[in-house]
Formats: sequence, structure tokens, C-alpha cells
Amino acid sequence: MSTPRIPRETRPAGSESARGAAGPAGLEPLAVLPVFVPLQGKRAVLAGSNGGAPWKVKLLAAAGAHVDVYAPEPSEELRAVPGEIVAGSVTLHLRQWHPADLKGAAFVIGAMEDETDCIEFVAAGRRAGAIVNAVDRPHLCDVKFGAIVNRSPMVVGISTEGAAPVFGQTVRARIEGMLPRGFKAWIGAARDWREQVTSRFHAFSDRRAFWERFTDRAFAEPDRVPTEQDLAELLGQTEAAPKGGAVTLVGAGPGDAELLTLKALRALRNADVILYDDLVAPEILDYARREARTMLVGKTGHGPSCRQDDINALMVQLARSGKQVVRLKSGDPLVFGRAGEEIDACRAAGIPVSVVPGVSAAQGAAASLCVSLTHRDAARRLQYVTGHDRRGALPEDLNWGALADPSVTTVVYMPKKTLGVLLERAIAEGLAPTTPALLVFNATRRDQRVVEGAAHDLSARVEAAGLDGPAILMVGEALRRLGAEAAVAELEPGKLAI
Ligand code: SAH
Repeated sequence: MSTPRIPRETRPAGSESARGAAGPAGLEPLAVLPVFVPLQGKRAVLAGSNGGAPWKVKLLAAAGAHVDVYAPEPSEELRAVPGEIVAGSVTLHLRQWHPADLKGAAFVIGAMEDETDCIEFVAAGRRAGAIVNAVDRPHLCDVKFGAIVNRSPMVVGISTEGAAPVFGQTVRARIEGMLPRGFKAWIGAARDWREQVTSRFHAFSDRRAFWERFTDRAFAEPDRVPTEQDLAELLGQTEAAPKGGAVTLVGAGPGDAELLTLKALRALRNADVILYDDLVAPEILDYARREARTMLVGKTGHGPSCRQDDINALMVQLARSGKQVVRLKSGDPLVFGRAGEEIDACRAAGIPVSVVPGVSAAQGAAASLCVSLTHRDAARRLQYVTGHDRRGALPEDLNWGALADPSVTTVVYMPKKTLGVLLERAIAEGLAPTTPALLVFNATRRDQRVVEGAAHDLSARVEAAGLDGPAILMVGEALRRLGAEAAVAELEPGKLAI
């Protein structure tokens, strides 16, 4: 076996990634850095008694802090707080604060009405080495509070940096809904069992497999309290599971990440290494787990490419070394994806291989145009054809009779280089020149564009449009119905360029 050429690696193992719109390599700007402050058993001080004080005291105590409150004239609500708390402790001192009160404080909050007093207090807090916050005075704060979803030990914090508090609240409510209350018990069990699991499984992949099973169970039965029997079963299942690397060919779909299947998502989350084609939309990689290595292999366009043999060899080599390898391919892996060769290479090497289907470009394009590819009156048959052969020329052996068939919808993948000759030849072979024909660029992506025409003039229209990106050609009477739909689609700005 030859040594595989090393493909471009977009992110080294273990490196940070934004997982944001910037794609796998970039870190999008963050308005604030979310950090989580452990306060269990630590001292906190709040001075003053303005409107926000009681809630802040409760929060500090809920996080396990021992809170000293200095307020000469506390509100009724603040007076009631020490009797309401269930964690930490709260002591109310009916006097002004003194700098000496801040000694040993990990967190201090200024809640006084008077700005000067507050400035003095936060300065003293900083000198004492505490983290500083001031109620309703963001300019005095080192850290700010966000909205919280509490499934302790899992805690979700949400900040809009003051830009949209109501929006933040709504997001909070949605996340509350997504995370059943029972998760508290599961996450607590995870904490309790962690040590046992770690000492039982030495290999990272085993531990990961255990926690994936655990998480599946939690999602399946969120409201059941996990038991020792769960632990025993999950340990047993993990031990019995086959070990070693494997390859999964995963369909990434045509671009829109929401078209990923749940299985694809799971495979991406499980992967140690992801070998992806350049036609895979960058946002798809955001769904990989952060530690996964992502490697760009192959260039499906006309540029230099990783040889298929190199990709096969790399895939096998990684799986042999025990990695979970995802071979991520645009659309459906089994449609014009050379998946057959990759499957054969795995089989020949004795590597377990499986396939997760994806939405092919044709399906994605048809859906976004709201047009049926088959129609009782117009198309009894649907065919996928490649527009070029190994050399990039029109394939010699296309079935022209089938392409000229009036009752078929034809989708041509990789059509751009040979569009003119393909349609010309199809017409010469009997295809009606007025048959509706479209070229869909960047199907399902934000920059999707459609050039509409007929078999005889599409090529000229495409040239005039001067568009770029992956494209498929769709030809057939069934597409005539698009006319009505196109009018609707045109309402969406920029969707159609006809
Ligand atoms: N397995 C893929 C096809 C890979 S062949 C699938 O099932 O979709 C590569 C060709 O697919 C491209 O040349 C182009 O013709 C088509 N293609 C892939 N993604 C596309 C997209 N988002 N829009 C239009 N065509 C696309």
C-alpha cells in the first residue's frame, strides 16, 4: 500500500473551534466570554438593598456561597431572604459596609443607590481580590449575570449583552423546554458514576461509548431516575461492544445543515476523524465534536485532487489505528460519490464499514423549488446521469434514447462543462427542444440560484447569467409546473436569477 498523500487538515486534533458561522477554522467574535464561577463554600458580600439585591443574594447562596449582606435599612424582601434559601447561607448585617468586611470575599456585589458609594465599594472589592458586580451599573461590573437554566450540575447561562433581554428570556424558556427537569438526576448520576467509569475503561473510545449510551438513555427516559441497574447495564453493553476503528460513509446533504439526518448527526458527534469533500458545506462541520480532526480530501471540481487511492488508504489506515472515521460526502454518498471504491477498500482491509444516506442534490433542489420530479402526466421515470466522464468530457456511453424520452425527468450531476453539447445531442436524439430545463446552482444554500429555460436555450442563458458554484441540470416536462412555483419563489429576494 502506498503512503497516502497528506491532505489539508483544517483543524489539528484538540484545537479550539468556533463552531460558528465562520466555519471550522475561524473563531467568530464573542460579545462576552461565558465562564462559570464555582462558589461552593466561598464567601460573598453584597452591600446595599436596591431592587435587584434580593435576587442576587439568592443566586449567590444557591451557588453555595456564604453571603454577608450589609444593609442598614433592608427592604422587606431582602429581610425575608435568609429564611428562603436552601443552599449556602445568608447573614444580614444591619449596618453600612466597611472595607474590612470584604476580606476573603470571592465575589462582591454593589447594590446601593448611591453611585459614589458603589464605586468605592467595587474598588474595595477588587483590592480584596474578589470578582465584582454592581446591580444596574454595568460600567462597574467585572462580570455580568445572564439568564439561567438550572439542571444542576448542568447549568446553562444565556447572555445577549444587554442587547435583547426579552429575546434572551424567550431563548431561556425554549431551552427550559428542551431540557426535561429529569436531566438533573441523570447529570447528577453522571457525576457520581464518572470515577467508576473512568477506572473501568482505560481507552478513551470506550469511555466515550459508555457516555454516549448513557446520554441516549437519558434522552429516551428523561423523567426516570437512573439506578445502579442502569449503571451495570451500560457498563456491560460497553464492554461487550465490538472494539476498534470503523468507517462510516455519511451523506452531508446538498448544503443546508438542517437536511442532515439524525444518524448523520450522531456519526459526526462520534467521529475521531472526518475526511470531507470540498463540496461539503462548512457549516456541516460545525456539528462534529470539537475534538474531531477534520481533513479536506479530494477536490470534486476541476482543480488538483487527492487521488481516490490516497483517500482509500488514509481511511483504512486511520480505522486500523482504532479511529472512528467518518467519510463525509456531499449529498448522498451513494450517488456519484465513488462510494463503491471506498466500501471495497474497507472490506478488503477487513474494516467495518456502514453508510448513512443523505439528501442528494436533486432532492434538495426539487424541494427548494417545490416541484415534483415525477408526475403522472409528465414523468413516469426519473434518472440521474453524470455530465462528464473520467477526463471531464461528455461520457461516450450515455443512453441517448433514455435522455430523449419525453416521459422522463433527467437530473444531470456535474453538468457545467458539457452542458451545451449534452443538450444539443439530446435534442438531436429526439428530445423536444422546448422541454423545460433548469440549472440549479448551490441548491438549498443561501446563495441558491436557478437559471430557467428550455433544452434549446438553457446553455446560452447559463452563460449569460455568469453564475458560480456546484450545479445540477434538470430536464423534463414535469418541471413545466415550476412556472407557477417560480412566481412564488421570486417573492423571496435573490432566490431566482432567470
Ligand atoms: N453525492 C452527491 C453528488 C456528488 S457529485 C449528491 O448526492 O448530491 C458532485 C456534483 O453534485 C456536483 O458537480 C454538482 O453537480 C452536484 N451538487 C452537489 N451539491 C450540489 C448543490 N448544493 N447544488 C447543486 N448541485 C450540487
